[in-house]
Amino acid sequence: MDFGLSDEQQLLRRSVREFAEAELRPHVREWDEAQQFPREVLRKCAELGLMGIQCPEEYGGAAMSSVDYCICIEELARVDPSVCLSVAAHNGLGTAHIAAFGTPAQKQRYLGPLARGEMLAAWALTEASSGSDAGAMRTTAARDGSSWVLNGTKQFTTHGRSGDVVVVMAVTNRTQGSRGISAFIIEQGTPGLRPGKKEDKLGMRASETSEVILEECRLASSQLLGAEGHGFIDALQVLDAGRIGIAALAVGLAQGAFEAARHYASTRRQFGQPIATFQSIRAKLVDDAAKIEAARLLTFRAAALKDGGQRTTLEAAMAKLYSSEIAVRAAENGVQIHGGYGFIKDYPAEKFFRDVKLTTIGEGTSEIQRLVIARQLLLAS
Ligand SMILES: Cc1cc2nc3c(=O)[nH]c(=O)nc-3n(C[C@H](O)[C@H](O)[C@H](O)COP(=O)(O)OP(=O)(O)OC[C@H]3O[C@@H](n4cnc5c(N)ncnc54)[C@H](O)[C@@H]3O)c2cc1C
Repeated sequence: MDFGLSDEQQLLRRSVREFAEAELRPHVREWDEAQQFPREVLRKCAELGLMGIQCPEEYGGAAMSSVDYCICIEELARVDPSVCLSVAAHNGLGTAHIAAFGTPAQKQRYLGPLARGEMLAAWALTEASSGSDAGAMRTTAARDGSSWVLNGTKQFTTHGRSGDVVVVMAVTNRTQGSRGISAFIIEQGTPGLRPGKKEDKLGMRASETSEVILEECRLASSQLLGAEGHGFIDALQVLDAGRIGIAALAVGLAQGAFEAARHYASTRRQFGQPIATFQSIRAKLVDDAAKIEAARLLTFRAAALKDGGQRTTLEAAMAKLYSSEIAVRAAENGVQIHGGYGFIKDYPAEKFFRDVKLTTIGEGTSEIQRLVIARQLLLAS
């Protein structure tokens, strides 16, 4: 067992940290307030290989491991969790689905532009009436000669407006339940595809979230992604890996909140001394530091097992559950340690506090992670 990062991984961490400090840090507040999605920064991410982190080299990707992926995501989230959410959704959902289940022609057409940041990926599973119970979706795809015709509305799609390609899950055979759902790749500009409402969010505001509306959206059969009837099963596999990414995002966010609180505690003086000398402030910092380290280890372990070729449903759910829950606590402690200054926008604490809540909700809520874990543990007994 080796808990150290290799020289290459340490270099990767330094490079992404320098990038995030230089390119993201100066704009965090501006993007958050404007709810402005910084498309231009994603192009800069691409120059570092961050838009095709795990894409195969033959398609122009960086072909990094899952552990490397976690390092990249952690470092982006430490500075701007919402830009990080966009990078994670692009890499871990839309692009990952095409890379894992696409035909050679689909990979050829989409992966290169996605990895180069020329195209942005979206992934639409959730609907207004089916979130946790995603298999109960209503969007349909009906065969019509050699094409498919899609109808329905997807909810909460990251890059639902700006995504150049949207991977959409739709029911192709209602009688087959979750085995009657298929995935499709839809290019922006396809007649019948249009964005719906853009959400006005509590946090993660620089990451765009919107409805995706499909009205008689006609697709060639070549746009079917994966086998017919396998879309939901494949989506669950994509989510297993995606959850490791959200765990890494939570770890990075918690690290950023912790570092801001530690700095503030060392410089803020009350009663003639830095507040970091007070035992109750130290206890918060110490507990958060220990929990962040534990969360990081759970996340790296899930990633390392995935790199070893194992199915990681249990480990990914545990990493996501634990990391997101401790991140919420670390962000809350960050606000508390800042006192009144934690409540105003001049300091980063309040943004971490708003952004962090998404980590216990997106890609499966904490309650759903507990269901997944329980199912795995009970099956094993
Ligand atoms: C910013 C943001 C970005 C997102 N991006 C995407 C995206 O790119 N693509 C996409 O497809 N989706 C996306 N989502 C959707 C997200 O995955 C869902 O919001 C999430 O899965 C929860 O679904 P829901 O909101 O419908 O909540 P619900 O499923 O309605 O849950 C409501 C509450 O009930 C609980 N609950 C539900 N079922 C159970 C149960 N069986 N046992 C115990 N408790 C239960 C939940 O845990 C939750 O607390 C995004 C959401 C947000 C907020």
